Amino acid sequence: MKFDILTLFPGMFDGPFAESIIRRAVDNGLIDIRLHNIRDYAFDRHKTTDDYPYGGGAGMVMKVEPLAACIETVRAERAAARVILTTPRGKPFDQATARRLAEEKELIIICGRYEGVDERVRELYVDEELSLGDYVLTGGEIAAMVIVDAVSRLVPDVLGSADSAAADSFCDGLLEYPHYTRPPEFRGLQVPEVLLSGNHQEIARWRRRQALQKTLMVRPDLLATARLSAEDEKYLQELAKV
Ligand code: SAM
Repeated sequence: MKFDILTLFPGMFDGPFAESIIRRAVDNGLIDIRLHNIRDYAFDRHKTTDDYPYGGGAGMVMKVEPLAACIETVRAERAAARVILTTPRGKPFDQATARRLAEEKELIIICGRYEGVDERVRELYVDEELSLGDYVLTGGEIAAMVIVDAVSRLVPDVLGSADSAAADSFCDGLLEYPHYTRPPEFRGLQVPEVLLSGNHQEIARWRRRQALQKTLMVRPDLLATARLSAEDEKYLQELAKV
């Protein structure tokens, strides 16, 4: 999987991609992350990348020409790339989107700044607009980091078996069950007996019920689309009575 990130602040990416699983994936050639400084594509003496908005109003807008030149240069080498614009106006980025994007070979991610990018960038080049959530960040860099991270861990072989994504939250439409590790007791809090029992069937049942309970409490909206068995439905009905 090849990621090309278009940003005015490439230095922001030094830390997050230099550690742990993403670093290992890059070192092993499973993913490739290239950063492109949009300012390098500004054509005037002052390397201007923003300008006042037509129609007035507060803030600046990212100019179309430097972004167009940057995108076209990157696309010349990435013919199959899907172009993503980070913006609070986009569709919410979720695990299903991460799974879908992990099937792609090449992604170009545009990081906005100021009031965002000239709308013609979207019209000319953007395949998909993605939002991290209903809040406004100072720039698209953190959104790009989140997208790269969530997509990369779904690329085959990026996670070792120890970090498997199979039981993650959202994998089957539910939040994940709680985890415990040693010691069995800490400040009076015991690890649930069932997890120490060695009875794998009972453990699976307990985990499923915990996942259902947590989802019902915190994200009941997810239950509408989750894959639920008849036993799950029955358990949820029991919980609703409590
Ligand atoms: N004026 C814009 C609006 O109200 O929609 C917000 C611009 S924001 C200050 C600057 C840049 O940060 C955006 O162009 C986008 O790239 C990024 N950004 C901010 N919030 C985001 C979010 N929730 N999801 C994804 N990107 C975001």
